[in-house]
Amino acid sequence: MCDQSLLANLGVSMLTNSRIFSFMDHNKEFVIHFFEGQKLIHDLILAQKLSPDNFLFLRDSVLSLLHTVNFLKPLEAFGIYLDSSDQSLKVKIEISNSGTMRAVVFPKNFQSSNNSAGTNRPKFQGRLRTSKLTPNEKAPYNTILEVPEIPFSDLANVLFKESYQFESRIIISPTSDQSVMLLKLPRSEIKEISDHRNSTSLNDFELSLRPIYEDLFHIGVQDYEIISQKFINHSFEFLGSKEITFQCHCERSRFFDALFNITLSQGVHHLFDEGQTTIETECDYCGKTYGFSRDEFLINGKH
Ligand SMILES: [Zn+2]
Repeated sequence: MCDQSLLANLGVSMLTNSRIFSFMDHNKEFVIHFFEGQKLIHDLILAQKLSPDNFLFLRDSVLSLLHTVNFLKPLEAFGIYLDSSDQSLKVKIEISNSGTMRAVVFPKNFQSSNNSAGTNRPKFQGRLRTSKLTPNEKAPYNTILEVPEIPFSDLANVLFKESYQFESRIIISPTSDQSVMLLKLPRSEIKEISDHRNSTSLNDFELSLRPIYEDLFHIGVQDYEIISQKFINHSFEFLGSKEITFQCHCERSRFFDALFNITLSQGVHHLFDEGQTTIETECDYCGKTYGFSRDEFLINGKH
């Protein structure tokens, strides 16, 4: 740990790739997902120039909503879009079943007008839209939820309840970039529980699990083996894990097409000032810049 802190101070990242670990309790009533997200949050910060408030919104959104990756089938992709009711804040998160994701917050210099980004957990009120892309389905499946003011950490709970009818709880670590999600399985999915036994409430289960996840949060454990063993030692069955990485698949051609459509409807002069020969555009997700010349639009277009 000492060597690691020294290297971190020198700006050398020793973080291992982020991963979500899944377990089931021995009564088969609950599934637990432990999200070790330190490298992912680190990479998102490096890719974007965020204000301190924005960082908190992005962090809590990602540590909560990334748990939706566990509900995706092979080749499915999921987009989650938050629009605050006062139109002051937007968050976009895109996830694929393979574990790649990208996310962004607008505006990047957002300053919270209330204390929700202070010592308390940041809160959100507004519209939560989702869009799921499934292979062989031409159109995405879209949903819209109006969310009352809740902590960002509860957003996934609302989504699971409304879209999947699952009772869940997400706890975000106050110190490390990690979170845990507890999911109560519906009765029909509990195969081996006898009918006469009372099922455990989500509250009681969370209380029993608290010493385990708080211990992992406290030290910010990254080691895959230590995380798995911690739960296995407490009689949880290890179901598997999935690596989660930040990856932006932006392409120059897509930016060109978008700009080209603008020139078709409004003319090349709408993008280029008099005498200007080149413009540059930046990907909001990864910060990569793409340059375009005026000639490209003149050759391809009618202007
Ligand atoms: Zn990009």
